Amino acid sequence: VVDPEAGVHDGNWRDNRHSDGKSVEFITATAGDYIWIEPTSRREFDVAIGARVVSAEGRRIQVKDDDDNELWLTPERRIKAMHPTSVQGVEDMISLGDLHEAGILRNLLIRYNENLIYTYTGSILVAVNPYQILPIYTVEQIKLYRGKKIGELPPHIFAIGDSCYNNMKRFRQDQCIVISGESGAGKTESTKLILQYLAAISGKHSWIEQQILEANPILEAFGNAKTIRNDNSSRFGKYVDIHFSKEGVIEGARIEQYLLEKSRLVSQGSDERNYHIFYCMLAGMTREERQKLELSDASNYSYLTGGGSITCDGRDDAREFADIRSAMKVLMFSDSEVWEILKLLASILHMGNIKFRGKVVDNLDATEVPDMTSLIRVAKFLGLDSRNLKEALTLKTIFAQGETVVSTLSHRHAMDVRDAFVKGIYGRLFIWIVTKVNAAIYKPHSQTRTSIGILDIFGFENFKINSFEQFCINYANENLQQFFVQHIFKLEQEEYNAENINWQHIEFVDNQDTLDMIAIKQLNIMALIDEESKFPKGTDHTMLLKLHKQQGWNKQYLKPKSDLNHSFGINHFAGVVFYDTRGFLEKNRDTFSADLLQLIHNTSNKFLQHLFIDDISMGSETRKRAPTLSAQFKKSLDALMKTLSNCQPFFIRCIKPNEYKKPMLFDRELCCRQLRYSGMMETIRIRRAGYPIRHTFREFVERYRFLIHGCPPAHRVDCFAATTKICREVLGKSDYQLGHTKVFLKDAHDLFLEQERDRVL
Ligand code: ADP
Ligand code: MG
Repeated sequence: VVDPEAGVHDGNWRDNRHSDGKSVEFITATAGDYIWIEPTSRREFDVAIGARVVSAEGRRIQVKDDDDNELWLTPERRIKAMHPTSVQGVEDMISLGDLHEAGILRNLLIRYNENLIYTYTGSILVAVNPYQILPIYTVEQIKLYRGKKIGELPPHIFAIGDSCYNNMKRFRQDQCIVISGESGAGKTESTKLILQYLAAISGKHSWIEQQILEANPILEAFGNAKTIRNDNSSRFGKYVDIHFSKEGVIEGARIEQYLLEKSRLVSQGSDERNYHIFYCMLAGMTREERQKLELSDASNYSYLTGGGSITCDGRDDAREFADIRSAMKVLMFSDSEVWEILKLLASILHMGNIKFRGKVVDNLDATEVPDMTSLIRVAKFLGLDSRNLKEALTLKTIFAQGETVVSTLSHRHAMDVRDAFVKGIYGRLFIWIVTKVNAAIYKPHSQTRTSIGILDIFGFENFKINSFEQFCINYANENLQQFFVQHIFKLEQEEYNAENINWQHIEFVDNQDTLDMIAIKQLNIMALIDEESKFPKGTDHTMLLKLHKQQGWNKQYLKPKSDLNHSFGINHFAGVVFYDTRGFLEKNRDTFSADLLQLIHNTSNKFLQHLFIDDISMGSETRKRAPTLSAQFKKSLDALMKTLSNCQPFFIRCIKPNEYKKPMLFDRELCCRQLRYSGMMETIRIRRAGYPIRHTFREFVERYRFLIHGCPPAHRVDCFAATTKICREVLGKSDYQLGHTKVFLKDAHDLFLEQERDRVL
């Protein structure tokens, strides 16, 4: 649970007013000092900003803040002295004296301004997207980081890759790297960098290694698209598990995919595109292929033009297509398989161009297809009879009490059937492609193999309108957050144990209640949604009523104030999200017209038929009970969590510094929101619940020996004894602890020690 006040009201503010709130004291800041200025607004993601004092005149001080604004502060503004660690910035933020949001934000900012995009927080790597090519991924850099310990060199993603690899070899334990962040933050690029690093250091440059690297362009072609947030946005989650032999050589890999966004196939938001592959194929196919598939320019397909954008700056679709093709060769796609894929993609494009016209027959809504050109093309490439296809798109057959009734579909309905057809085909094609890739790179288990898994998955989302997809994504993030917190907590405990520190009074709130409510306890939200999805008469509204009824009492559940509202709210670890239930059931059911399935059953296109083999082999009754989307997602997520829990984890938190895809622009509010959504503040909270400040005895003596009489420098004294003496004399009986190698302090101790040091020196 995030405390939005953390960092603002964490005490120690130098309040310049007397307790009567009227008379004002003189501010003792002098030019060159660094201070924190408390925000005046109460906006959600506004936190204290750092500033350097330029001059002090009487009762006012002039400062230049971290956003480069020059301003005069009157004595009413609440300010606080900046800890020396925050002035210069640190490589590991856990060592910040100002261990709060504002401190972290400033530390990231000043490093980012020097192109230092990587920073640690304990064992977590924070990566700020530079939106420019930095010269830090060269072969020399790879060599440099090889075999080094984390912390020995400046923070780097290669250091994480290297630690993983070394740990795996040394302890023979599986490792995983959980990469999270919002769209455009750099998750996929980070995944690729880790893969490249592992490939580079694991010795032999083998065929299998190349195959693993070449899987990426294929997955990205079919699963990535241009969105307003990211020109190459992954619209699916993935877990890439790399397998190594005992000698540490790459043996194979396996890719798992999660929740491809299918709505994009039939409609795109403004300035967004459909999946790259469509534009690539149209730009890159030979003239002969285009002719065969009866295709023309991208601008002629309504499925490609919905967002009003068919090109993507900096992308050469034709060249990409050549790369995709060669990657497919590397991954053993046969020429005929590639052709079958192109045929399906062409059918989808032609399908989108089928126009329907509504009419009324016998007082009932019906639909006709005025121009059969596109429909005939679809029928041809899908191996269907065009008349049958037309009927399947415009009529509906219902089997009721042993009788077959055929009814007409309205215009809207016919469009929905068509769009569902396209989503059904593409969704299955995507899964087929992942399976095909795995067939090439997955090598059956050797007993001694160990693995490194990389999870590249959508971060926590909270948009203006949140739907079923956000519900699933946030549920996944809720699981990952629990995993993360448990790990961090365990590390803290280990450190306290190693130092023989009593840590029993450290408490933290985890998100078990929310997880219970979403998917674990009886009548949980997922179960209720599923139940309603299987119930023929269930609607989004009846589902919502059930949710309100069964969960209304729950503290983690929020009911909207008005009954007219279609949403319900969940108190997530990163904040409250309201979900609009409209469309929930249909998305969850993810069904497909029985009439179309009947057609596919008899098609001459064997590839298409193969994609639907599971659906066909299910009878219509079993199909009704087929697992819903949420059930499938939960199952794959449970499997993922189980895998992760057997690994030693590393965490990378990617941060998008601005919304404009621009270098050298750091939006503090945006970054603050991401820090909170990343769940990283939890680490800090756990740290602060115990003893956030730690110094080795030597460091401590070096810094604070001036506070007592006659303490010699650290190299001439028993540092444990000296530390004990300093603490006893300066801190008295307060709650600090001495471990085996370090002294453990609370924030207030640190502040006091620093103030005393300032006073003495
Ligand atoms: P995500 O997967 O989190 O949505 P991406 O990894 O696709 O985001 O990154 C979005 C864009 O940001 C990339 O296309 C690239 O232009 C830029 N980018 C991300 N990470 C880096 C990096 N380390 N160096 C340079 N550019 C980067
Ligand atoms: Mg991505």
